[in-house]
Amino acid sequence: MHADFGSELLARTLAGTPIDESELRHSTVLAAREGNSVAWPDWVSRPIVNAFAAQGITSLWKHQADAADLAFHGENVAISTGTASGKSLAYQVPILQSFLDDPLSCALYLSPTKALGADQLRSLAVLLSGRSEFSHLQPCAYDGDTDPDLRQWARSHSRWIFTNPDMCHIGILSSPGRWHHFWRNLRFIVVDESHHYRGVFGSHTALVLRRILRLARAAGANPVVIGASATMADPAVALSQLIGTPATAVTDDGSPHGARTVALWEPDFLPEITGENGAPVRRSAGADAARLLADFVIEGARTLCFVRSRRGAEITARSARALLAESAPDLVDRIGTYRAGYLADDRRRLERAIADGELLGVATTNALELGVDISGLDAVIIAGYPGTVASFWQQAGRAGRRGESSAVVLVARDDPLDTYLVHHPEALLDSPIEATVIDPTNPAVLDAQLLCAAMESPLRDDDIELFDAREAIDRLKAAGLLKKRAAGWYAAAGLEPYADIDIRGGIGGQVLIVDTTTSQLLATVDTGRAPSTVHAGAVHIHQGASYVIDELDLDEGLALAHPEDPDWTTSARKVTEVTISSTALVRRHADLTLALVDVDVTHQVIGYLRKSLTGEILDSVPLDMPEHRLSTKAVMYTLTPESLEAVGVSLGRFPGALHAAEHAAIGMLGLVATCDRWDIGGLSTNLHPDTGLPTVFVYDGYPGGAGFAARGHEAFGEWISATREAVTFCRCERGCPSCVQSPKCGNGNEPLDKAGAISVLGLISRLLTEPAR
Ligand SMILES: [Zn+2]
Ligand SMILES: [Zn+2]
Repeated sequence: MHADFGSELLARTLAGTPIDESELRHSTVLAAREGNSVAWPDWVSRPIVNAFAAQGITSLWKHQADAADLAFHGENVAISTGTASGKSLAYQVPILQSFLDDPLSCALYLSPTKALGADQLRSLAVLLSGRSEFSHLQPCAYDGDTDPDLRQWARSHSRWIFTNPDMCHIGILSSPGRWHHFWRNLRFIVVDESHHYRGVFGSHTALVLRRILRLARAAGANPVVIGASATMADPAVALSQLIGTPATAVTDDGSPHGARTVALWEPDFLPEITGENGAPVRRSAGADAARLLADFVIEGARTLCFVRSRRGAEITARSARALLAESAPDLVDRIGTYRAGYLADDRRRLERAIADGELLGVATTNALELGVDISGLDAVIIAGYPGTVASFWQQAGRAGRRGESSAVVLVARDDPLDTYLVHHPEALLDSPIEATVIDPTNPAVLDAQLLCAAMESPLRDDDIELFDAREAIDRLKAAGLLKKRAAGWYAAAGLEPYADIDIRGGIGGQVLIVDTTTSQLLATVDTGRAPSTVHAGAVHIHQGASYVIDELDLDEGLALAHPEDPDWTTSARKVTEVTISSTALVRRHADLTLALVDVDVTHQVIGYLRKSLTGEILDSVPLDMPEHRLSTKAVMYTLTPESLEAVGVSLGRFPGALHAAEHAAIGMLGLVATCDRWDIGGLSTNLHPDTGLPTVFVYDGYPGGAGFAARGHEAFGEWISATREAVTFCRCERGCPSCVQSPKCGNGNEPLDKAGAISVLGLISRLLTEPAR
C-alpha cells in the first residue's frame, strides 16, 4: 500500500458507484506522524526488557517511557494518547518492576468492560509466559464470570487482579477483611479507558476508587494510580476528579501512524417516503454504510464498519452481501458480523478471520472499539456518530496498518448532532474530546456510597475530605443512618447498602424481561425506564432477535415477552410535569433568564405510537400506567412573551417554537457534554406555574442529576448557538429528525414549529450578549 491509499480508495469508490457525490460533505487528509522512540529507563530490569524483546519490542515510544517513569517514581499519571499507541506498556513496565523489587507488591487493573479486561489479561499472559521471574505474579480476572473457587484462589494467590468498578463495589470492597493483605501491598491501580467513566457510572466509579484508596492507605499502602484514556482536553484534571488526588498528564504521543483520510457523509432524503407529521426521511446510515462497505471490499480494502446496534450490524452485513451478490459474487462470503454476546470460541475464530484477511469486510457493534487487538485494516466506516469524539477516534484508529495510510468515513444518522458534525467538521476533527462529566457529590450517588464506605471502615475526618462529604454526613446523621463513635462515623446497625447501588446508573431497581415461551431471562431494564420501554405492546430487540412485550408488572418487576418480528417499532407517549424545588446560579440577560434548578419531574406513559420501519406512523394505542417521579437537576431558561413576539413568534406559536427548540437542544447537548439524548429529558411550556413565563427545562434523567444539565448550564452559549445552526441549516422545510423531531418525544412530535425554534434560538444567542444581572 502506498501513502495516498485512503484518499484513492475513497476516490475510486465514489467514481465507480452511482452514489451521488454530493453526499460527501467533507474530506480531509490527516498527515502521517513519525515515531519518537527512546531507550528503556535505567530502572527497568533485564527480565522485563527480555520479555518485551521476545515480543519484538526493543525500545519505547516517548510517551510510554514518560508515563512509566512518573508512575514508577510515585506520581499518579494520566496518559492520554491515540488508539494503538501502546498505553498498556506504560502501566505494565512499572508494575512488573515493582513486583521484581518486592514480590509481595500487588496491582489492581480496572476496565469499564469485561472484554477489555480479558484482552489485557491475555496479552499480559502472553508477555509473561514461561518467564519464571514472574511466576508468583499470577495475574487473574476477578469479575462476574469468575467462578467462586477461582475467586477464592485469586484472593490468596494473585498479585494482579483484573476487574471492573462493579465487581470492586459488590464483590471486593464489600468484604474488606478478606482483602486486607491485598490492600496492604497495593502499589498500583490502573484505570484503563478512563474517559468511559462519565455521568452516573463515572460518579459511582469515582467513589469506588476513593473507597479503594482509603482502605489501602489505612492498611499502610499508598498506591499510585495510572489512568489511560483516549486523547482528551485535560486528562490530569479528569483523572484527579475520578480519584480525588492530583495527577500528572502525559499527552505527547510518540507512536507513528500513517496518513488518514477522513470523510464525512450525509445520506440523502428518500424521494417518496414521508415520516412523522410529513417530515422528509433520509436513507438510513446503515444502508449507506452497507453500500460503502461493499464498494470498499470490491476495491480490496480490509474494512470494519461500526454500527450502533447488534441488529443494525447484522442488517448492514446482510445488505452488503446482497449488493456483492450482484456485482462480485465471489466476495459474498468474505463479509462477516461481530458483536458482543458471541461465545468465546466463535469470537476468537472471527478475530482470526479478520486478522488474516479471510474476512474482508466486517460489520460490528462497538464490541470491537475497545480491547480486541485487531490491526491491519485499511478502512473504517462509522454508521452513526458513536456519541463522543473519543469513541469516534477509537473506532477510526482501528484502521491503518503499521505506518500505512487508511480511510475513515463517518456516515451521519438522521439526528441533529450527526447532521451538525458533518456540516461542521472542525467540531469533530479539530476539537479535543468532550469534558468527561461526573458529579460525585450528587446526594443520590454519594449518600449510598458513603454508607458502604462506613461499613468497610469507620469514616474519619480525612475520609470526609476525600469524599467531599460534609453535607452528606449531616444528611445521613439526621436520617439516623450514620452514628458517631470514638473511631469515627459508623453505619447504623442492620443496613445493607450494597445491593441498593447500581454502579451503571440504573434507577430504582430492575425489571426482568422474560421470554414466556422458553422462560429465558432476556435482559433487565431499570424500573424507572420500564414504563416507556417495555410497556405492553412494546417491541424489544435482544441480540438481534425481536420480541413483543405482552405484559408489564411493575410490582413484580417482570416484563413478559414472546418472540415476534413485526414490521413496526413502538415509541411511548407520555405526559411530563416539572416543578422547581430550588434554584441556584441564576443569570438574567434582559428578557432571558438562565438557571440551574432542582426539579421534581413526574412522568406518566399514556400510550404508544406504532411506526413502520421506514418511519411512517401506523396508529396510536392508549395505555393506563402509573406515575413515575424523579428528583433531579435541570438547566432552565425563560423568555418574556414580549421578546418572543418582537422576533415574530406570536402567542399561538409559542408551544411549537419552544418545543422544537427544546428537542433540538436535547439532541445537541452531546456536543458539550458526554451524554446522548437518552440520558436527558426536557419540557417546554408557554406558561410555567413556577416562573409565570414561557419556559424550557432540560433535565438529567437520573435521580440527583448526573452533571449533564450542569454542563449545559456552564456551556449554555456554545450549546445554544450550535443548536441554532443545526436547525437553521437543516435542508428540510418544516422539521425532521435531523433538526427538531425527537425519537423519544412523549408527545408524538407535536406541535413543532421549526421557523419559530430558529427565532427562539437566535433570540437567546442575541440576549446572551446583553450584560448579565
Ligand atoms: Zn430538518
Ligand atoms: Zn417532545
